[in-house]
Formats: sequence, structure tokens, C-alpha cells
Amino acid sequence: MNPATHLAPAAGIAAIPIRELLPWVIFAGLICLLGVYFVGAEEGATSIIKGMYVHEFVHDSRHLLGFPCH
Ligand SMILES: [Zn+2]
Repeated sequence: MNPATHLAPAAGIAAIPIRELLPWVIFAGLICLLGVYFVGAEEGATSIIKGMYVHEFVHDSRHLLGFPCH
């Protein structure tokens, strides 16, 4: 069997309509924004959860993304 034909996409793949996709895109965007909040702003005056638990949990991600910390 030719590997190129084996990996070729199957004909007849149905396209997902934008109307069905849009709520999931919005949901994923909100989850991403929530993640950016917890990594970048969950500290000090903008903190929702008391204590430093969330900050310490995402600390390496915070530095990786370049948010100021200490
Ligand atoms: Zn830090």
C-alpha cells in the first residue's frame, strides 16, 4: 500500500457550520481568558481567591509568559 494514499483525507468530510461552531469558539475564548487571568493577574489587588495558592501554583507559567511578579 502506498503510504501517501493511506494518509490522504477521506472524501466526503462534512464541514461544520459556523452557526454550530460559534458557541464553542466563544466558550473556548472565555476559558482562555480565565486562564490568562489566573496566570497573569491573580495576585494582590486583583486577587479573587484569598492567599497565594493560585499564584504559587501558576508561578512558572507566569514567568514563562513574561508577566511581572517579583
Ligand atoms: Zn515570580
